[in-house]
Amino acid sequence: MKAESTRVSGGCLCGRVRYEAEVFLQHGYICHCTTCQKSTGQPAEITVLIKPGTLEYLKGEPKYFVTSASGKRGFCAECGSRIVWQATDPQEDWTTNLCVGSLDHPAAAGMACHIYADTRLPWYDPCADLPKFTENDVEAMMEFIRH
Ligand SMILES: [Zn+2]
Ligand SMILES: [Zn+2]
Repeated sequence: MKAESTRVSGGCLCGRVRYEAEVFLQHGYICHCTTCQKSTGQPAEITVLIKPGTLEYLKGEPKYFVTSASGKRGFCAECGSRIVWQATDPQEDWTTNLCVGSLDHPAAAGMACHIYADTRLPWYDPCADLPKFTENDVEAMMEFIRH
């Protein structure tokens, strides 16, 4: 999928962390994996991919918690808001993404697919008509979301 990136701003609930980035705003995705569920305290983590090298912190920086070999999750150390999933390997920086609720204008985002749909909670089914990738489809999923 090829897409234009859009300049956005955002930050955490208390305002200690503020950022700007270029993101693929209309190609967000909903991750139903159990790590995202725990990390957000919600049924899913909903994110937009960042154009590599464009994420800039204007104020503060997230604190990070490493959740796998591939990435770490950033949050505000003061208010706890989840902000970012940051790839470990610079070659994989295209997978770095922002939590959509941290955007200043999250209503402007659009969703493109579901990932790890095999662990979707049965009572949580937004954007039901979008493609749903499961853990077995990881390669197809990565191909679909890559820009
Ligand atoms: Zn905060
Ligand atoms: Zn996930």
